[in-house]
Amino acid sequence: MARWKIEPTWKKSLIERMYLKKDGNTVMIETGWRWGSFECETEDDNPPNIEAGDDLWNCGYDVEMIETFDGCWEEHDMDDCDEETQEWLENFFDEGNSWLDLEEHGWIQDEAEMIIDCDPEFELLEKTDGTKPIEEESGDSIACFSCDKLVSANELIEMSGQLICPHCNEGWVEPENRPEDKKWPF
Ligand SMILES: [Zn+2]
Repeated sequence: MARWKIEPTWKKSLIERMYLKKDGNTVMIETGWRWGSFECETEDDNPPNIEAGDDLWNCGYDVEMIETFDGCWEEHDMDDCDEETQEWLENFFDEGNSWLDLEEHGWIQDEAEMIIDCDPEFELLEKTDGTKPIEEESGDSIACFSCDKLVSANELIEMSGQLICPHCNEGWVEPENRPEDKKWPF
């Protein structure tokens, strides 16, 4: 077994959906996360076959969450609830209650989805033979202006005279050319 770390290549691309049920009603709670990381194992040293749009909880691998952080949005879908329940839920949320408190009111957590809504990036943590991949000499790394990944000068790709970030394919912006007020996270 090889072990992999999975991360999105873009911020705000992790969409978590929780389904809660009560008396034949289903409410879906969607949370958009700014960032998160996950782990999974593969049989050989090839990266997992996970693509943009896949549900990490149902993608053929036993994916475990390391962390998600900074919820950016929350939406409630009550279309699968009767009118009376919709009203009750609207009041419940209007009063400032969190969906986490729904269980106290008899709602039961059912399915959950974790959609990675951009290309995932895989980092080999441990190879099948149990060894760790050798860290490459990377010199001084600088965070990319667009995707915040650490990039060293020798990793930058040159295309038609323009330097490009190898992670997000955005043009490379040297630190001295970055506006002060647009630092990640924004
Ligand atoms: Zn980048």
